Amino acid sequence: MASRTVKDNMEQSLPPGTARRIPSLAELCDALVGLGRLKPGHRDEVLARCAAQRAHLQRQRLAPRLKGAEAHEVTDAELIASFHFPLASDPTDHLDEDRVVEVQAKMMGIPYAHIDPLKLSPELITSTVSRPFARRHCVVPLESGNGTIKVAMADPLNEELVDELQRITGRRVEAVMASRKAIQKIITEIYGFQSSVSAAEEQVRGGESTGPGPGPDLGNLEQYFRLKKVDEIEATDRHIVNAVEYLLHYAFDNRASDIHVEPRREAAVVRMRIDGVLHEVYRIPKVVHPAIISRIKMMARMDVAERRKPQDGRIKTAAGGTGGEGREVELRVSTLPVAFGEKVVLRIFDPEQILVELGELGMYPEELEAYERFIARPNGMLLVTGPTGSGKTTTLYSTLRAIATPEVNVVTIEDPIEMVVEEFNQVAVQPKVDITFPQMLRTFLRQDPDIIMVGEIRDAETAEYAVQAALTGHLVLSTLHTNDSPSTVVRLRELGVDRFLINSTLVGVVAQRLVRKVCQNCKVEELLTPDQIALLDIPMRSGRAPELKVARGKGCARCRGTGLYGRTGLFEVLDVTDGIRKLVSEEADVAVIARQARADGMRTLREVAVHKLAAGLTSFEEVMRVTVQEEHR
Ligand SMILES: [Zn+2]
Repeated sequence: MASRTVKDNMEQSLPPGTARRIPSLAELCDALVGLGRLKPGHRDEVLARCAAQRAHLQRQRLAPRLKGAEAHEVTDAELIASFHFPLASDPTDHLDEDRVVEVQAKMMGIPYAHIDPLKLSPELITSTVSRPFARRHCVVPLESGNGTIKVAMADPLNEELVDELQRITGRRVEAVMASRKAIQKIITEIYGFQSSVSAAEEQVRGGESTGPGPGPDLGNLEQYFRLKKVDEIEATDRHIVNAVEYLLHYAFDNRASDIHVEPRREAAVVRMRIDGVLHEVYRIPKVVHPAIISRIKMMARMDVAERRKPQDGRIKTAAGGTGGEGREVELRVSTLPVAFGEKVVLRIFDPEQILVELGELGMYPEELEAYERFIARPNGMLLVTGPTGSGKTTTLYSTLRAIATPEVNVVTIEDPIEMVVEEFNQVAVQPKVDITFPQMLRTFLRQDPDIIMVGEIRDAETAEYAVQAALTGHLVLSTLHTNDSPSTVVRLRELGVDRFLINSTLVGVVAQRLVRKVCQNCKVEELLTPDQIALLDIPMRSGRAPELKVARGKGCARCRGTGLYGRTGLFEVLDVTDGIRKLVSEEADVAVIARQARADGMRTLREVAVHKLAAGLTSFEEVMRVTVQEEHR
């Protein structure tokens, strides 16, 4: 791949020769401005207001009700971060403590560590230094090997502390710098979880303390204690409650989409999926595992005593945001009996991810304009289509929320309910008690709602009632399992819907996909090869060698080395115009409808994807992964 690497601009724009000394606030601000992280106007604001702001932060810190508040002086990084300025280079993000400390470390000539909780060894940390020591001195061991130990420190210039650490560990300490906030968070999570689990384990062992270090073979222990001791440790035990609490916070902090607690032969393993990849996070002693599972089942209102049948449940809990206010997060919990016990999977539904502003879904302005026109209609049918995991639920929920007002009655029938939203009247499909898509649609019509969301149109009967509802003055939103917008129109016909009814109800169709975004923190520019351009089938001006500049993530700590961070939607928006309606009446095939739609201005998924590729938002591989070449043109 022809690659043009952008030089690390941090090396270039920092003043040389300032090593091993804490820079002054003014020097730090100037460096931040030089690196495009802070606007000159904001620098002036920091310098003008620094004394008052520092005093304000110090007072907050000393407020007696703030538990665990440190008595340390407010650092320059904390001071600057407290202003919450948007990044000069990327206004959607803000200048946080980590970004300031990164620059500070560079100026001091000390390596900076972006702490990735998934790369840490809880064992190394808790066995190296005690929690009070770690907290007081703001240190956390990152890795060890070859007679050295790498320690993240908020104050790496503190030589006394480095000496003390060398004495405690008997190793040469390699000090790296990290933000105070990042270190304290790790201390809370790792020691909190570990000590809760150890305390619970201790109880099971009946106070038979084995002291620090690796314990006895847990497999034997478990057999030994199973009969009389396991039940003594209750799911309501404080340590177990705390351990589960820590687990959840850890998952929220790391943007995990699901948590797996899996019993194995020797221990139970906790894994979390982050950006699509599973990471092992903790190992729990086997004896503690049943209590952890019971606690989760209790929170999800499941039958705690039932261990042999799979169960489903939900937990509503608060995820403490950085502002401390917290937002409500929903967890869908399922249990499964496996060979070594019960496995639990918690899927995390974060309203911040599922309910977004329509403008943030990823539509281009023209598409958004058409879409908003569709949903402004008092009646008719709007279909969203795409494979599982393409973001249809997010689109529908976000749409419903955008149009749900106190005067409007919104009802949904879903299988299952993805996330409970207070403003909607949601019903879950339950075939056992005859709650099915068509049955509920009939019931809804008697209640005269304004907007109806049907989770999915799978069969002719559901299609019939959905069309009926759209015809009788309701706005109906639903999904179909088709690949693109034009084939959705044809699919309705295949489901037996009369072409006259399609024409009088269908307002628009949106096909969608989710692509991963290039990490904006580590992206470099590169050129696509002629082969890649040919694969994408991009029309290029003839007579010149084709050239297309795109972006690729090199991989950094923020994106965990994947080069990708976050996702965005691709939308193919088909407006049901007079031209389309004419073709529906004529029972035209998909290719003809697609041609008409394109003539009416529809951009295909592939075209939209290439636009995002050229804008440096997503990668070539992602475009190839989620979109196919259109067969019908
Ligand atoms: Zn990155």
